[in-house]
Amino acid sequence: MTVEIVPPTERACTRCGRRDVWDAETENWVIETVDGERRVGRPHCVHEWDINGSYNPVRRTA
Ligand SMILES: [Zn+2]
Repeated sequence: MTVEIVPPTERACTRCGRRDVWDAETENWVIETVDGERRVGRPHCVHEWDINGSYNPVRRTA
């Protein structure tokens, strides 16, 4: 069995639609830009990222 660590490279807020992408150079989340528009979502949103909790970075392949 092989265990592969797969870090998330993008995340989206399930409440306001904000989208982030992982910048490996700065090791930080940056707001994704789509068609020249930054997907900032709502400014006062308590973001609920779709990778929280259920995301498992370890992918097991038999
Ligand atoms: Zn949000």
